[in-house]
Amino acid sequence: MRRFLLVAAVLVAAATAFITSTLPPKHLSLADPVPDNAIPGVIHVHSVRSDGRGTPDEIAEAAARAGLKFVVITDHGDGTRAPEPPAYRHGVLCLDAVEISTSGGHYIALDMPASPYPLGGEARDVVEDVKRLGGFGIVAHPDSPKDELRWRDWAAPFDAVEIVNLDTAWRQRAAATSWRQKLELAARLFSYPIRPAESIASLIQPSTIWEQWAALARRRHLVTLPGADAHAQVGWRTAGDPVTGRVSAPLPSYVASFRTLSVHVRTERALTGNAGVDSRMIVRAIRAGHVYSAIEGAASPSSFDFTATNEHGTVHAGDELSAVGPLTVHVRSNAPPGFTTTVWNGATLVSGDHHEQDFSVQPPDGGGVYRVEIRATGQLPAVPWIISNPIYVRVPAADASISPAPGTAPATSLALFDGRSLGGWKVEQDATSLGAVEVVETGTARQPALRWRFGLASGALAGQFVALIADLPQGAASSDRVAFTVRAERPMRISVQLRADRDRWQRSVYVDTFNRERTVSFEDFLPAGPAATSKPPLADVRSLLFVVDTTNTKPGASGRIWITEPVLQR
Ligand SMILES: [Zn+2]
Ligand SMILES: [Zn+2]
Repeated sequence: MRRFLLVAAVLVAAATAFITSTLPPKHLSLADPVPDNAIPGVIHVHSVRSDGRGTPDEIAEAAARAGLKFVVITDHGDGTRAPEPPAYRHGVLCLDAVEISTSGGHYIALDMPASPYPLGGEARDVVEDVKRLGGFGIVAHPDSPKDELRWRDWAAPFDAVEIVNLDTAWRQRAAATSWRQKLELAARLFSYPIRPAESIASLIQPSTIWEQWAALARRRHLVTLPGADAHAQVGWRTAGDPVTGRVSAPLPSYVASFRTLSVHVRTERALTGNAGVDSRMIVRAIRAGHVYSAIEGAASPSSFDFTATNEHGTVHAGDELSAVGPLTVHVRSNAPPGFTTTVWNGATLVSGDHHEQDFSVQPPDGGGVYRVEIRATGQLPAVPWIISNPIYVRVPAADASISPAPGTAPATSLALFDGRSLGGWKVEQDATSLGAVEVVETGTARQPALRWRFGLASGALAGQFVALIADLPQGAASSDRVAFTVRAERPMRISVQLRADRDRWQRSVYVDTFNRERTVSFEDFLPAGPAATSKPPLADVRSLLFVVDTTNTKPGASGRIWITEPVLQR
């Protein structure tokens, strides 16, 4: 018995020593900051409407306890649900957004009305749809270690990108091959009850996307944001995000996540208490990039201001300045003495090791995309406490009179429809859906068109599709694009495909309710499902298909589509 007690005492002592020696540094309470008039909030939160544990009301209450003023709830969805109007709950402004799953990663759409059709499929198409619908799109967890969560389409014109994500933070530790990283994650389970926000904050690793961000920001406005990705639960044996595991633990809590990471939005005026007015102000500031990220698990409350001045004037983070003459970059913060401030041009360090709370730097003349980070230690690549948005200093175009290259006129043209008979055009569908095609005369010019009717079978998603197909004539292999004019009864997306044996490649196009000419380059096609090659081998392609399927059309939906003058070109 005595021996057992001795062993138990040794174990308890060892566990206590382990926990205390691995406790993350205690959060620093900063006294009396100069107000920076930025409104603290949180973006990327899941509620019971998808895979989160709390109701919007509980989320707002947690945000209030964490001292936040707004919360953007981003439940998983396809964009067809109309967002709830903005509302104050527990003094916190709640905005309703959506996180859309694409085949190239997750994309958050903020400030977007309901989509007329389900958004999904390739990332480039969802980015295009969100933009057309007037939404603001944020690439979620771009550097997640999980394949299906990582962002892949860096050519798409998305509006913003997350440079911190708390879901990515713990996944990176869990996926790490080094035992030290895994041990740190395990240690955080023990330190979490003692120092919750510090424990989560200590898991965050520096973003790996700065090079990609910098390459894009040199050419266009690209906002950086922090994503809490708060679910207030973690599932065991999960297939990812959404959580699909049966067993889940209520970790970390919403309050702990909200005390770890926040976004600070510089609105043009103070909030009024009117949800409609205030949400428009906050969204406008987020769109403009008038925001900075703060890892408050390290220190809070923060006060931060970043400006750049040249002979054109002074602008704040998120804004643009023409490059003329000397530029002065000015940083003011309430960083404690041990903290270090660095100034970056894109992903390149311009000036490091500033310990002052207020200083100016004169970078070399010329264009640049300047941003600021403040971290608790001088050691790069430690995770920053503050990450600014950039100030874009642009060199005016040398010759603005150069117009963009016109689309090259086709050298050859091979008609796929003679305007009189169906020829080789036919319809295929799955066993339960319906489809038909006929030749009709349409419009005031009584132009002949292929009128294609589809009716996807209702019920669960089961691979429903209706396809309009033409076998390609001799000589098709020498073409490099297909052009056609198209309209539909309702706005929708159809997939233009090339088929060789069993493999298919596709490019999705948006179809409006009025005639639009579309030219789709085969160079832009990507595999639709498993395919032997990444690009269509034109010599082996036998058919051209127009496809309506459940990627962007709901089961049970039916409609008509008119296609005129389909031609292969080169
Ligand atoms: Zn996600
Ligand atoms: Zn999420």
